Amino acid sequence: MIIIFDLDDTLYREEDFQIGGFKAVSKYLSSLLNLNARKIEKRLNEIVKKDGRGLVFDKFLTENKFYSKSLIKKTILIYRLHKPNIKLYGDAKKIIFKLKKNIYILTDGNKIVQKRKLLALRLNNKIKKSFITHNYGCKYAKPSVYCFKKIKEAEGVAWNEMMYIGDNPKKDFVNLNKKGVQTVRIMRGPYKFEKAESKFDARFKINNLSEIINIINKNHYGKNI
Ligand SMILES: [Mg+2]
Repeated sequence: MIIIFDLDDTLYREEDFQIGGFKAVSKYLSSLLNLNARKIEKRLNEIVKKDGRGLVFDKFLTENKFYSKSLIKKTILIYRLHKPNIKLYGDAKKIIFKLKKNIYILTDGNKIVQKRKLLALRLNNKIKKSFITHNYGCKYAKPSVYCFKKIKEAEGVAWNEMMYIGDNPKKDFVNLNKKGVQTVRIMRGPYKFEKAESKFDARFKINNLSEIINIINKNHYGKNI
């Protein structure tokens, strides 16, 4: 069985990355706007809660009458390039150790940011290979199976000898289900309580990554681990 993990909210808590990013941006804006950094941070979090993360800096700078395209660019850059203060979930650490490098990571997201997260989590020497879909083009982001197919070809396995573990039923599983991949949903992160139609949902649902060992053993495709 070829094991492939999603990154954000599957192996670590993405909110921790956001907290660090907002701290860095708040610190920068604090001196520029002559505002208290903590207050800025608080307001950024309020905006995200209400409207999502998409335009958070635009909205904050607009309401403080400091909006400019160049400042938006700068804040996004600070957010993306801050040193991530993130760590693997306990169960992620254990399962990665147990599977002994015989795993892949396949993630969407900004390629520089994702690369920095992989570095911060010290994952590069613990896995076989990581795929950041945006390196191949935005159209190959999940639910595209393009990068999954690359792994399939490299390993010379059938679709049903592959397993994908992710947290987001909106995009992680729908096309892999059609191919017969063993899809596994870890019930945490922002989609924890999301009810998904069966074709969008994973074949298996787990609360702890250690449970994938049982799923692997039940399927008897264990030749690679
Ligand atoms: Mg995810």
